[in-house]
Amino acid sequence: MSKKTPQEIVIPKELLPKDGRFGCGPSKVRPEQLQALTTRGAKLLGTSHRQAPVKNLVGSVRDGLRSLFGLPADWDIVLGNGGSTVFWDVATFGLIANRSQHLVFGEFSSKFAEAAAAAPHLGDPEVISTPPGSHPVATTSDVDLYAYTHNETSTGVAMPLRRPANSGDAIVAVDATSAAGGIMWDPTEVDVYYFAPQKCFAADGGIWIAACSPKAVARIEEIHASKRWIPASLDLKIALDNSRSNQTYNTPAVGTLILFDEQVQWMNSNGGLQWCADRSATSASTMYEWAEARDFATPFVADPAMRSNVVSTIDLDGVDANEVCAALRANGVVDTDSYRKLGRNQIRVGMFPAIDPSDVAQLTRCIDYVVDNLTD
Ligand SMILES: *Cc1c(COP(=O)(O)O)cnc(C)c1O
Repeated sequence: MSKKTPQEIVIPKELLPKDGRFGCGPSKVRPEQLQALTTRGAKLLGTSHRQAPVKNLVGSVRDGLRSLFGLPADWDIVLGNGGSTVFWDVATFGLIANRSQHLVFGEFSSKFAEAAAAAPHLGDPEVISTPPGSHPVATTSDVDLYAYTHNETSTGVAMPLRRPANSGDAIVAVDATSAAGGIMWDPTEVDVYYFAPQKCFAADGGIWIAACSPKAVARIEEIHASKRWIPASLDLKIALDNSRSNQTYNTPAVGTLILFDEQVQWMNSNGGLQWCADRSATSASTMYEWAEARDFATPFVADPAMRSNVVSTIDLDGVDANEVCAALRANGVVDTDSYRKLGRNQIRVGMFPAIDPSDVAQLTRCIDYVVDNLTD
């Protein structure tokens, strides 16, 4: 067979996934969620977020998350506008008392460390890093916040969440943006579990959510009482007070909340977090076993224990990943591109719960077909 350009490749219909969205955020939105925008949404969109119908929607998201994560009754679900990136600034103002420790193992984990380092009111953060493809381990230290990343979306590495030994009053804050809803975790090991809804929750971006333990709430109150200057839109105490009455400080995107609530209900009604985690784990074994069986593919994360079940990164050899992604895109299979700053000949595949494991299996067949047709 002669070599084809990516645009010339036509993948046979029987190999195509039912849904071709494999991005790591924004990620696949289920058709039923979109439908809800015109049914439930017809009554909610365009109405006040200070009135009962939208407040009940926010309440439903908060209750649904509490049950999905199996949180004790004394935990708070806090939300605000701006996504996880804004939450780093929120945390820099309202969660770090003096000094934080950051485990840095990719682009996202480095950003919170940079925000803390730049804050004039905080001491220099302690940064423990490892090269992309693995993760560091926290060491007990003279800090008041430990910053973890449950799943480093830029590299496809997931880390277990364990509170450091003898960490006293320090709180553990976890960036779970791409992990929340797809990987199990134990609330006794964590104080703040924050994320945004465009990954496992299959909604749109633009809001941040933080599940906060009583210890985290005590920290928020303590910093508030210290009279530190905090811009109101980044003030976690203001966000906490608003969230407790099922509101946000300023206007939220009601459409995003509807998509989000539909996904949380779908997750809970199918069996909760364990069901979601199992579904992503099934997709992940398909991807990694496929890559290990191919001469042209290798899982980027060498240690199987560190491989993510929600974001897989696969190095390619002897074939250009950009051409593979272009051929897939020309056939409606999109966003398999690697994280650009990682700079590897790699594909990256989202395996969030909304993505059907059988579609992940179809994706591997599509890649086989493309590679076969791109190379002689
Ligand atoms: C996507 C992502 C972010 C950024 O989320 P935004 O809502 O776009 O700010 C932060 N951290 C991790 C781990 C992510 O996957």
